[in-house]
Amino acid sequence: MSNESLKELLVDEIKDLYNAENQLIKALPKMAKAAKNEELKAAFQEHLEQTKEHATRLEKVFELLEETAKGKVCPAMKGLIEEGAEGIEERDASAVRDAQLIGSAQRIEHYEIAAYGTVRTLAETLGEDEVAELLEETLDEEGETDKKLTSIAESVNEEALEEGAEDEEEGEEDEKEKAKAGSKEED
Ligand code: FE
Ligand code: FE
Repeated sequence: MSNESLKELLVDEIKDLYNAENQLIKALPKMAKAAKNEELKAAFQEHLEQTKEHATRLEKVFELLEETAKGKVCPAMKGLIEEGAEGIEERDASAVRDAQLIGSAQRIEHYEIAAYGTVRTLAETLGEDEVAELLEETLDEEGETDKKLTSIAESVNEEALEEGAEDEEEGEEDEKEKAKAGSKEED
């Protein structure tokens, strides 16, 4: 029956998302810890609480679909998280690294937005209205998180620019100091 295979697809996608959310529950505390900007740190902590709720909602979805709550490794989320972790390792804590963190987090949110949009529409097609509603609630929260990150990026990017300007000034000061020291040695 074609409806049956479409439902199988929905269940498969839900398993993938369940695993993706659980991976994020582990990754978000590390991202919050790495964030230098307080607003960004708080946003990651807040999204961690939301993400736990997303996993709980998916458990309700499994129940409604009469399936056992079980994840299936989501390699895409694994890759997105790994790439973000590499960024954390490559740089020292700074506004520039915060800007990089936001980039990683927004890639993750966009992945979730795509996935939740897909499963919401699948559930609607299958007449699983309650499931569709639950998925849409999460979809909305992922979208809000993405927008919030964009607005935090505006101030973090400015901070990063200022950091860069300070570094340049410090560099110039160092040069002057060196030049002075050099001319003293010559005296
Ligand atoms: Fe989520
Ligand atoms: Fe999310």
